[in-house]
Amino acid sequence: MKIAVIGTGYVGLVSGVCFAEKGNHVICVDHDKQKIEKLQNLISPIFEPGIEELMESNQKAGRLSFTTDLAQAVRQSELIIIAVGTPSLPNGEADLQYIEQAVIEIGKAMNSYKIVATKSTVPVGTNEHIQMILAMNTLESFDVVSIPEFLREGSAIQDTLEPDRIVIGLDNLTLTEPLTELHKPFTDQIFVTSIRSAEMIKYASNAFLATKISFINEISNICEKVGADVTEVAKGMGQDRRIGASFLNAGIGYGGSCFPKDTDALIQIAGNVDYEFQLLKSVVEVNKSQRYKIITKLEGSLGNLSGKLIGIWGLSFKPNTDDIRYAPSIEIVETLIRAGARLKLYDPIAMDKFRAHIDHPAIQWCESALEAATGADAVCLLTDWEEFKTAPLTQLIFIMEKPILIDGRNVFTHEQIDGTGIHYYSVGRPDQK
Ligand code: NAD
Repeated sequence: MKIAVIGTGYVGLVSGVCFAEKGNHVICVDHDKQKIEKLQNLISPIFEPGIEELMESNQKAGRLSFTTDLAQAVRQSELIIIAVGTPSLPNGEADLQYIEQAVIEIGKAMNSYKIVATKSTVPVGTNEHIQMILAMNTLESFDVVSIPEFLREGSAIQDTLEPDRIVIGLDNLTLTEPLTELHKPFTDQIFVTSIRSAEMIKYASNAFLATKISFINEISNICEKVGADVTEVAKGMGQDRRIGASFLNAGIGYGGSCFPKDTDALIQIAGNVDYEFQLLKSVVEVNKSQRYKIITKLEGSLGNLSGKLIGIWGLSFKPNTDDIRYAPSIEIVETLIRAGARLKLYDPIAMDKFRAHIDHPAIQWCESALEAATGADAVCLLTDWEEFKTAPLTQLIFIMEKPILIDGRNVFTHEQIDGTGIHYYSVGRPDQK
C-alpha cells in the first residue's frame, strides 16, 4: 500500500519505518524541517534501539522517504496515518490542536478517495470530529478509521513488528478486508471494532496498566510498615495467571508521554459525561506522591538536604529512551534544588533533553555513573538502565562522601548489596545498613 504518515515522533517514525519494512511504500511527513533534514540523512531525531538500521535499509530499497511537503505526500498515498502529538491541556483534557491542523491540511490536499487513520491517542468521539473537519475541507470521498498504537518506547520496533494485537476501529465494513490484509504481516491477532470502542480501548488499556503500577506502589508502602518485601509479594502475586507478572514492579511511579496524559484525559472524558472515575483519580494521586518517597528517604538518612551533594542515576522516564516527558526525575530534581541540595546528574542518553528542560547552577552534568557518585552524600537511582544494574557497587564506599544508595526502582538484590558497605534504601523492602 502507499502510505503517508503525518508526524515523525516516537509513534509516526516507528510505524512508518515498520510499514516500509513489511513492503509498503511510506512517506513520513513532519512540519519540523530540522527533523526531516536529519531523517533524510538517516539520523533518527529520537533514541530508539534499531531504528536507524531499518531507516537505512528501507530507504535504500526505495520504500521509505521523508518530507515536509504534506500535500504531496497525501496526494501520492492511499492511506494517511495521523501520528501527531495529543498533549494535555491544563485541565487534563487532550489538546487536539495538532490533530485539527493536520486534518485541515490533509483535507485541502486530497485529490482522490483516501483512508485517513488516526494512530494518535484521541478521546472518544474525536474521529467523528475528524470526519467533519475533512468534509469541510474536501469534496473528495474518504473514510476515517481509528488504529490506536500500543508500542512502548525503548522496545518500539519489536512491539510494532510483533504486537500482541492490532485494534482497528471502523464504521465502513468494506474496509475490514484491506486493513486486515495490511496488518496481517505483523500479527494474526487483529480485532476489528467500532471507532468509539477502538478509541476507548486505548485509554482503558493505559489506565489499567497505570492502575497496576499504583496498586503495587501502595502495596509497597504498606510492606514498608509491616516488614514485608514487595518484590517477593509481587512475584507471588504475578505467578497467578489471572494477575500476571508484568507492571508489578514497585518504584517511584510511572511517567512518560502516555500514562500521565492518558489517565488525565480519561478522567476528563468520564467527567464530560458526568461520571466520576474515582478509581483512576486515586491511581493518579498515588503516582504523584510516590516520587516524593525519594525525598523522604533522603531526608530520613541525611536530615536537612541544604548543601548536601546528591548524585542522580537516570533521568529518562524509563530505560532505553531519551524521553523525559513527565519523568519523575523532573520533580525530584526541582524539589532537591528548592531544598538547597547540590546535584550531580547522569543519564546514559537523556542528558541533553533534560538539560534543555532544566538547567541550574546547582547542577553538575556528569559523564558516568561513578562520576555522579564521586563525593556525593547519597546517590538516588531513578531509572533502571542496564548500565546501573551492573555498576561496580563495591567502589561506592571509596568514592562517596557517605555510601548511601536510594534505589527508586528496586534494581539491586539484597545479596548484591551485602558486603559492599552501602546503606541501601529501596521501595517496599527492608533497609540494609
Ligand atoms: P511526538 O511529540 O514525539 O511526535 C509528534 C510529531 O508530530 C512531531 O514531530 C511534530 O513535529 C509532528 N507534527 C505535529 N503537527 C504536525 C503537522 N500538522 N504536520 C506534520 N507534522 C506534525 O509524539 P509521539 O510520542 O509520537 O505521540 C504521537 C501520538 O501517539 C500521541 O497521541 C501519543 O499519545 C500516541 N502514542 C504515543 C506513544 C509513545 O510511546 N510515545 C505510544 C502510543 C501512542
